[in-house]
Amino acid sequence: MKSAVPRALRNARRIFPRASTRSSSLSSLPRLGNNRLSGTTTLTSQHRNFSATTGLRDIDEDKDRKWSTPLAKQLAAAIELTGPIPLASFMRMCLTSDIGGYYTGAIEKDRDQFGLKGDFVTSPEISQVFGELIGVWFLTEWLAQERQSRGVELIEVGPGRGTLMNDVLRTIQSFPAMANSIDAIYMVEASPELRMAQKNLLCGEDAPMTESKVGYHSVCKYNALPIVWTETIKSIPIAPQKMPFIVAHEFFDALPIHAFELVSVPASKSEAPSSTDNSSPSSKTTTPTLQWREMLVSPTPPGSTHESLKTPATQSRETPPPDFQLTRATSSTRHSLYLPESSPRFRALKSTVGPGALLEVCPDASLYASDFAARIGGSPQHPKPKPSGAALILDYGPGDGTIPTNSLRGIRKHRRVSPFAEPGLTDLSVDVDFAGIAESATKASEGVEVHGPVAQGDFLELMGIRERAEVLAKRAGEEEKGRAVEKAWRRLVDRGPGGMGKVYQALAILPENGGRRRPVGFGGDVVQ
Ligand code: SAH
Repeated sequence: MKSAVPRALRNARRIFPRASTRSSSLSSLPRLGNNRLSGTTTLTSQHRNFSATTGLRDIDEDKDRKWSTPLAKQLAAAIELTGPIPLASFMRMCLTSDIGGYYTGAIEKDRDQFGLKGDFVTSPEISQVFGELIGVWFLTEWLAQERQSRGVELIEVGPGRGTLMNDVLRTIQSFPAMANSIDAIYMVEASPELRMAQKNLLCGEDAPMTESKVGYHSVCKYNALPIVWTETIKSIPIAPQKMPFIVAHEFFDALPIHAFELVSVPASKSEAPSSTDNSSPSSKTTTPTLQWREMLVSPTPPGSTHESLKTPATQSRETPPPDFQLTRATSSTRHSLYLPESSPRFRALKSTVGPGALLEVCPDASLYASDFAARIGGSPQHPKPKPSGAALILDYGPGDGTIPTNSLRGIRKHRRVSPFAEPGLTDLSVDVDFAGIAESATKASEGVEVHGPVAQGDFLELMGIRERAEVLAKRAGEEEKGRAVEKAWRRLVDRGPGGMGKVYQALAILPENGGRRRPVGFGGDVVQ
């Protein structure tokens, strides 16, 4: 088969001006290796049945209880008032709340989330080739579409340290026609600290940052392009003449999920449609109904230990015992009544799996996917006469269309920990429902089509990672540096345990073209 990016790679020397490895990251842990099932006992083995009305007992019994973090204390106080909270509310608070979320101030000032000193390592931090190839991918899409001379926007959601965007921009710089077509760069970032790190990398430490109603602004060192930081994608204006190139790397896995379990409810206890107390004798003899029960978060009993909570062997016990645990609601909740009904894939579980079926639903993922699709393909609210642009989503999750279950995991300092230990200090992530993203995107816009997901290893190899890395390794000069370059890229495509080539997936959202043109990296070729 013809190499996917022949021209681009023939020009590799010109495209990629310098060689460096981020080899300090080589021995640190990605959020997900091939051992993804090892962190997944949380929902089933640790949950207890829980009633919203009795869930408050623990706190009343132990007013002086020491919580592991300030956020844990706040969460416990909130639960005392409202009763157990949905897993999504817990995750959102732990990751992005301004009272000490993982991305919003909880971790020590002298480190961030990434690399050896951090908690995990991501592909762009492992090798510059990753971001370079994403830049080349955008280029191939720009070439294959209208090659607009203006109106191109680069949008990244969850940009971390800004490394990926820096590598993308440096790469695109080598193609002035595309580089000059870029109007603006948008970065969707919840973390003030990471926003500043991104500004320093992309604009320089001395570059000023100003604030407006939309977000924060600065000027990029590449082509003096304006960069705008927003906290959500909704703040980025949508206009029909824009050609957005959107990248989301390890962003969707940080979005909060709701989790549910399907239970069989005896007909006499069935809640719908009205009070069961008056049910007629005949309804008591009908077959049990299947209902979804939401998994809720409540405090662990005071004095709990890892032993009493049966912290799974796959999770390090070096953290304090978890402050919280997952519990299954005894009756329907607002979310359990509508989220599991929101997709035919979810509804099918009642017949394909039956009682005991587990389900994770990520409403924010649908919102982001719908937003990407509307920007690229237009929507009833934002009509676009000619769809244009592309979105590339790289993350971990099932590539075969199955719905994630039991996927919540906690990570601290390169170790699996309980997701309920030290809220705010623990990274939380989940498997991404790629089929759900595809469904949301195509539902939101008739102007888009979806390709993939394909395994990251396949995507990167089709994009020419091997050829590019060989050039880099040669240019590295010293033998040791060359070996580090080699080790880094191999890790990104490695399909074995610990490698990132198989569990990480790539999915593309493109302008609808009846499936006639497949994008590069997804089986298509470069259109010149
Ligand atoms: N893409 C980067 C970072 C991944 S970590 C990399 O691969 O290295 C997740 C990123 O998403 C961080 O930048 C984090 O601050 C951001 N983030 C997490 N939840 C967010 C949310 N709800 N809204 C906006 N940004 C979020």
